[in-house]
Amino acid sequence: MNNLSYDHEERAKTVENVISNLSVKTILDVGCGPGTITNRLLGYEVSAIDPNLDYLKQVDCKEKIEGSIDNIPFGDGTFDLVLCTSVLEHLPDKTLMEGIQELKRVSKRYLLISTPYMEDLRLGYMKCGNCGGMFNVYGHRRSFLYKELIGLFQDYKVLEGRLTGKGMNRWDESLLEQRLLIGGMTFRQTHCLHCGVFNRKKQQYTTAEVRMIKKLESWNNRKMKNVKRIPSHVIILFEKG
Ligand SMILES: [Zn+2]
Repeated sequence: MNNLSYDHEERAKTVENVISNLSVKTILDVGCGPGTITNRLLGYEVSAIDPNLDYLKQVDCKEKIEGSIDNIPFGDGTFDLVLCTSVLEHLPDKTLMEGIQELKRVSKRYLLISTPYMEDLRLGYMKCGNCGGMFNVYGHRRSFLYKELIGLFQDYKVLEGRLTGKGMNRWDESLLEQRLLIGGMTFRQTHCLHCGVFNRKKQQYTTAEVRMIKKLESWNNRKMKNVKRIPSHVIILFEKG
C-alpha cells in the first residue's frame, strides 16, 4: 500500500484549523469514524454519528449516536456546523442524495465537507476472488472534482476551499490499462463492493505476470517521473446562502 498516501494527519489538522476560525458552539460530525477529527474538537459541544459501533467506542465527545447520514435523528437547524469528512465517496447514489439533504437540514449555518480529490479509483482496485469484479479496497464508489462537490451544495456559498495531501503516484493511461488486465493494484481483506463476499486471500499471480507487473511499474515510474501528483483531499467550507 506504499503508493497510497491519504495523509490523514495533515487533513485532520487542516479541518481543525478551518473550524478554529469560525464562531460556532455546536458541531455534528456525520460519519465520524474512529474520531480522527471528532476527538480533536475541544471546546465545542460535539455530537457524532456513525453506523459502526466499534468506531463510536473510540470517539470522545458529548453525544454519540449509531446512525446513518440519510436519516439524521435531529431537528432542522440544530447545529452551527455540520461536518462530513471521508463519507460521501463511499455512498451509493440514493444514499448520497438523501444524505446531502440531511446534512443541509440539520445545519444552521455552516457545512464542512471533505472527500478525496479527483481520486483515480482504479489505483485502489482489487479483484474479487468470488465474482471476479474489480472494486476499490477502501470502499470508494465515486470520486469528486471540485466543481462537482460545489454543485451538490448549490444553495450554499463557498467560504473556503483547500486541497491537502501529496497524493498518489500517477499512472500513464495506457500502462494502467495494461496493468489492470493482469489484475488488481492492491489487496485488503474486505467485502467485495459488487457481490458482498468477504475476500480473505490475495489474488495469485504467475511468475510471468509478476515480471510483467514489475516491468509496467518501472516503465510507468520513468514515464511519470516529472508529472505532478494531485493533492489527495479537498476540504470545502460552505455557508447557508
Ligand atoms: Zn465479488
